[in-house]
Amino acid sequence: MATERTLSIIKPDATKRNLTGIINSKFEAAGLRIVAQKRIQMTKAQAGVFYAVHKERPFFDELTTFMTSEPVVVQVLEGEDAILKNREVMGATNPAEAADGTIRKEFALSLGENSVHGSDAPETAAVEIAYFFSGLELVG
Ligand code: GDP
Repeated sequence: MATERTLSIIKPDATKRNLTGIINSKFEAAGLRIVAQKRIQMTKAQAGVFYAVHKERPFFDELTTFMTSEPVVVQVLEGEDAILKNREVMGATNPAEAADGTIRKEFALSLGENSVHGSDAPETAAVEIAYFFSGLELVG
């Protein structure tokens, strides 16, 4: 096991419902440490760059519109196997398929409005963290 960092986003459906604290408590209960965190409002262009991998998908416009509809909380989580552990805490993309006790099972509204984002691999985690945070902001 290795100590890793992963990029997490608490999405607009969750910030709007004032769920940032309860979601953070689930990360911390799972042994993930929040080593950087800020609340931002993304522009459509910024969200489009972040989700560039989905540019050709039919839901791309819906996704970037949703992600810019309210502020989001971007954060860096650190811990043993943080990337996989965070994906477990988040649950499946579609809340209808998410396991009991996961964030998406408990809080997500739909496949699109699913409360949290988490990096899916070390390479994407590094790129995604650098997109939102400078090295000076990571003080874990
Ligand atoms: P994730 O890694 O579990 O977040 O899932 P993906 O990388 O496959 O998708 C990125 C995000 O796009 C998801 O978390 C959803 O918010 C959104 N998304 C994925 N599929 C759909 C879809 O069919 N419709 C809509 N509206 N959004 C989707």
